Amino acid sequence: MTAPTDSKPLTAKQRMAIERVRMPEQDATQRAGNFEEVNLGLAEAAAVREAQRCLQCKNRKCVEGCPVEVDIPEFIAKVAESDFAAAFEVLKRTNALPAMCGRVCPQETQCEQMCVRAAKGEPVAVGYLERFVADWAMQHGLADKTDLAAPSGFKVAVVGSGPGGLTAAGELARMGHEVTVFEALHDAGGVLRYGIPQFRLPKEILDYEVGQLKALGVRIECNVIVGKTITVEEIRRDFDACFVANGAGLPVFLKVPGENLNGVYSANEFLTRVNLMGAYKGGPGRTPIIRARRAVVIGGGNTAMDGVRTAKRLGAERAMIYYRRTETEMPARVEEIKHAKEEGVEFHLLEAPVAILGEEGWVRGIRMQKMRLGEPDASGRRRPVPIEGSEHDVECDVVVVAVGVRANPLLTSTCPELKLNKWGYIEADEDGQTSLPGVFAGGDIVRGGATVILAMGDGKRAARAIDRYLREKK
Ligand code: FAD
Ligand code: SF4
Repeated sequence: MTAPTDSKPLTAKQRMAIERVRMPEQDATQRAGNFEEVNLGLAEAAAVREAQRCLQCKNRKCVEGCPVEVDIPEFIAKVAESDFAAAFEVLKRTNALPAMCGRVCPQETQCEQMCVRAAKGEPVAVGYLERFVADWAMQHGLADKTDLAAPSGFKVAVVGSGPGGLTAAGELARMGHEVTVFEALHDAGGVLRYGIPQFRLPKEILDYEVGQLKALGVRIECNVIVGKTITVEEIRRDFDACFVANGAGLPVFLKVPGENLNGVYSANEFLTRVNLMGAYKGGPGRTPIIRARRAVVIGGGNTAMDGVRTAKRLGAERAMIYYRRTETEMPARVEEIKHAKEEGVEFHLLEAPVAILGEEGWVRGIRMQKMRLGEPDASGRRRPVPIEGSEHDVECDVVVVAVGVRANPLLTSTCPELKLNKWGYIEADEDGQTSLPGVFAGGDIVRGGATVILAMGDGKRAARAIDRYLREKK
């Protein structure tokens, strides 16, 4: 049913009768051969209709599910009134990167899972609406109108320009502090730039949101590796406080024979070559990438889905996921799994690699072993148990390993006073305070590989704590 069009406010019954909008998508066969964005975004009328589904609850469960506390009912109410500029203002009050969150946040396990409408059907499409508003603002050249506090005279350094670092930087700049972000790579954005592909998050969107932060006065210095180019000690000398958000970018490998063959990539390397270095565009001087005929990707998370869908777009006739548990245990977003299947990706479940097979130094196949699910392990997921005698070989010319990440010790090894946990992640309290006074940390370097919005939530809480720390210092 479509929404009534008269100007009287809708009754709850009328709102309940509106069906959830569907996101228009690029055709699956067509998109499997290009790097253009898959989701096409809502048209204005569809966004307004979807916003009218919101019940404007007094008990705002959806907000409880948002780590950056976006005032979801308020921004949706503005969309329902077709006042998109006001909706953008509401969003920007709490979220520095709404176009990004609208695209990559797992809303289905956060705000939308908490939405009261989810109990009896489909939740309000909060993510689609967030993306709509942010894109509308971008298309209409709207600037962030949040007021900047008067200059405080304090200087704050941020290490890493991923979602955690960028959020903290934006918040701190608004509080009147002079912020410098140090980024090891040659461009800002962290995983949003080098990990998540163009077909999920176009780089122009990222450039726009980074540009908005620069307009607030945030300085971003690229090609600076903290722990090598400069040290944490030097930062502590030259700045009044520091927020470390250098992510968890060290790949985990399979530790099976054959892992050093040509054609084996960590997902990080594979995706960085394509996304950051533009390998998919080809042409002289571009970073090379092997365009596999048969690509095997090991893993079941978002990184594995991004890897396999990228391999497909690079021309693989067979792009295959191998995962040692079942689809129920896959950590990837439901939407990414659905999109991958529609694009022709093969899913091979309950199988794990035992060796990578080669010929003259190059990958020629992979030996897989079948698994069954046993008792739950420490993560609560049922442990995969190998089935004796079930080994079999699969032909392939590229293997992408996407089985997790760890903390990169480059920064922490040069700062022994920074207390780490047993996995090498920085120990920090709820506000991000580390063992070093004035040094705060958040995002994946504290949590281990997590999500964009959790890193942003950490950045936000740490910015408030840094502000308190600086004012107390004064
Ligand atoms: P990062 O985004 O990792 O950024 C850290 C930055 O610090 C990087 O730019 C790095 O170059 C820089 N850095 C590292 N060391 C140094 C140093 N010594 N000096 C200076 N700079 C340094 N999450 C979702 O919510 N939705 C998704 O769809 C999703 N998809 C993903 C897909 C992939 C391929 C990957 C890898 C992750 C995905 N995630 C997703 C997880 C999410 O991207 C991360 O949890 C999030 O980016 C963590 O943010 P962060 O700010 O802590 O660190
Ligand atoms: Fe709207 Fe759902 Fe939030 Fe209620 S819980 S205010 S219906 S988005």
